[in-house]
Amino acid sequence: RAGGADVLEIRGVTMRFKGLVALDEVSLTVPEGQIRGIVGPNGSGKTTLFNVISGFYTPGQGAVLLRGREVTGMAPYRLAQRRVARTFQNLRLFEDLSVRENLLLGLDRTRTWWIWRYPSVPWKVLGYERALRRRAGALIERFGLAEVADAEPRSLPYGIQRRIELARAMAMAPDLLLLDEPAAGLNGEEVRQLAEIVRSIRDAGVTVIIIEHNMGLVMSLCDQVTVLSSGKVIADGPPAEVAVHPDVVAAYLGD
Ligand code: ADP
Repeated sequence: RAGGADVLEIRGVTMRFKGLVALDEVSLTVPEGQIRGIVGPNGSGKTTLFNVISGFYTPGQGAVLLRGREVTGMAPYRLAQRRVARTFQNLRLFEDLSVRENLLLGLDRTRTWWIWRYPSVPWKVLGYERALRRRAGALIERFGLAEVADAEPRSLPYGIQRRIELARAMAMAPDLLLLDEPAAGLNGEEVRQLAEIVRSIRDAGVTVIIIEHNMGLVMSLCDQVTVLSSGKVIADGPPAEVAVHPDVVAAYLGD
């Protein structure tokens, strides 16, 4: 790994939708191994920023760099191959597949590329599928999903569905993990479990960026917090400092 390089750098990114400026010259850097919080009122551009980082949107201006290499406008699947994984605010699980199959799809990240590149290789004979199934089993254990592995997500409680979405993102063995409001709809105990899981993910070397409205969670979990308001970065720093920043207080009271 490149020593000390930032995992992510956003340089002057502007994203417009017709007349609306959703991101206005946003710049930020995220060092390796950090849990970065992104907060701000509704409509301040947080999800748009995730969509830019994960390739769903191409910004009109500015650049996105992963470990110093520009990836602006790269397709989401290619960013996935470069180990950027994300979850969605509104879950995007495959409802008519089992939990295990949802995880297998996450694990399949690399094969999609290899098969396209080398279609004549007898992947099945090489035991690739068996290896994927073993890894799915390991994820099922790690995320406490053994009892629901063969169920369809829609039949499961919301908190479990959120955990499946996180497990599927982790199936991609990400280097940078983007979590969009992972605590939404969770009860207190589930939020505590989530915090523990995210810390363990960070401790395993993954850089995490988390959009979150639960300020208690942001304050206790994040190493650094970036505040967006009307598409602009209005504050950036340690959680305790950001929380008392006058612009931040004003932006939240004005929400
Ligand atoms: P947040 O996640 O902070 O609530 P968003 O990033 O979802 O904010 O939205 C920022 C602004 O951009 C909002 O005004 C939203 O309506 C607008 N926006 C986001 N995506 C689109 C889109 N695909 N088309 C048009 N407007 C959009």
